[in-house]
Amino acid sequence: MKFSELGLDPKVLQAVEEAGYETPTPIQAQAIPHALQGRDVLGIAQTGTGKTASFTLPMISHLASGRARARLPRSLILAPTRELAAQVSENFETYGKYHKLSMALLIGGVSFAEQDRIIDRGVDVLIATPGRLIDHFERGKLMLTGIEIMVVDEADRMLDMGFIEDLERIFKLTPFTRQTLFFSATMPPEITRLTNEFLSNPVRVEVEKPATTAETIDQRLCEVPAARRDRTDREKRAALRALIKQEGDVLTNGIIFCNRKRDVSILYKSLTSHGFSCGALHGDLDQSVRMQVLAGFKNDQIKLLVASDVAARGLDIPSVSHVFNYDVPFHAEDYVHRIGRTGRAGRSGVAYTICAPADTKLLAKVEELIGKPIPRIELAGVTDATEQTAAETDSDERKHARRGRGRGRGTRAEQDRAPARSADSDEGKSKRSRRRGGRRDGDDRPVVGMGDHVPAFLLREVPLPSSSRRTAKKGSETSAEGPDAEELNAA
Ligand code: AMP
Repeated sequence: MKFSELGLDPKVLQAVEEAGYETPTPIQAQAIPHALQGRDVLGIAQTGTGKTASFTLPMISHLASGRARARLPRSLILAPTRELAAQVSENFETYGKYHKLSMALLIGGVSFAEQDRIIDRGVDVLIATPGRLIDHFERGKLMLTGIEIMVVDEADRMLDMGFIEDLERIFKLTPFTRQTLFFSATMPPEITRLTNEFLSNPVRVEVEKPATTAETIDQRLCEVPAARRDRTDREKRAALRALIKQEGDVLTNGIIFCNRKRDVSILYKSLTSHGFSCGALHGDLDQSVRMQVLAGFKNDQIKLLVASDVAARGLDIPSVSHVFNYDVPFHAEDYVHRIGRTGRAGRSGVAYTICAPADTKLLAKVEELIGKPIPRIELAGVTDATEQTAAETDSDERKHARRGRGRGRGTRAEQDRAPARSADSDEGKSKRSRRRGGRRDGDDRPVVGMGDHVPAFLLREVPLPSSSRRTAKKGSETSAEGPDAEELNAA
């Protein structure tokens, strides 16, 4: 099928041709003709399938006739994240370059005043995240009664982010005569309920099962031995560095996914300190910083992007050579989304997943979802590297620990981490004690886990009477053996 057979406006066709697209993707071929007829569409498609054009192209064709009125936008696109909303607006500019359509982007981090001015003049397309749209609405700056077409993009992600009530409210603020184009990669019951309530006799278009991963992606699993839980992070970071180095020039750019924002920051600092070119992307960063990082990654100034799922969801980065799952994702479906960032449009890609022993249950869920085991790899150098890092004092962890101490008792998570660290240093010391008969004055071996500063009392010999010295020595050996024996059993 050709784009010219879809019934699109000639000026849209010209823009599409100039964008370099030759044939419509399956979601475009199936959704566009129905959308142009004014039907509601329920598109089950994940990112990377060309779904953005499947709603923007018919929207532009529809909006080509008619005029915008002050404060009454004619169409609305809702996206879960700022990045995705910004990306949709870029698509709109590309495909709508031969139309004089006005657009407002309502996302956090962009000033209200500027957007209010645009809305006051009248807009054809409003692109927004649900929360920000509600804010504008509540400030009385906007009415949604003129909406002719409403698009919901990545509805399942909106559900994950807690936007469902906002979404429902927005649906109710728009006229029931509107046309709705609704996209979701998966259809959890809450989303099905919404579509049953707010879509009118929709055409269901499903292009790829959410559990399928592209054949062009070479998936590999790197199991990190991590005999000790408190060393898992260090060993995972070492494994990641070894993987990156092993790939050499084949790795042109990559996204590294973490499950937690905190780990995005730690990993970003760690990789930077090891001399890698990288940027960080997570929801707590300023919008301007996020845009800057994204631009740097797109124009190859940044080679590795460390990101959380929410921040990276839906980002349009056409050719990523590698995806690294620093963590096995909490939700198995995120695995499919993550690795879908590579191997796009027939290109080949590599997706590595790092798995610690504690992640085996999550891994089992991923493998169940994709219906096959992920091939295991032996990573040359990873064992050496992890052993080395276990002995090294990792500078960013030390800083983290010091900051935690500086804040007093710290959070529950920090309190939980503290004993693990002292256990680490205790274990290091007890092993040395057994091997070399304890630390003596003048011993200049580094103390692992203490940073640069070793409290003087730890270096001082304790004067004890000879009888009690024997008892004390025996006692200290017993307590030193305790954690070791436990650790060995656990391993
Ligand atoms: P999306 O799923 O909308 O995020 O699109 C994924 C990528 O596919 C984007 O980089 C689009 O520019 C690209 N794309 C969309 N439609 C086509 C097409 N018909 N032919 C080639 N590339 C396309």
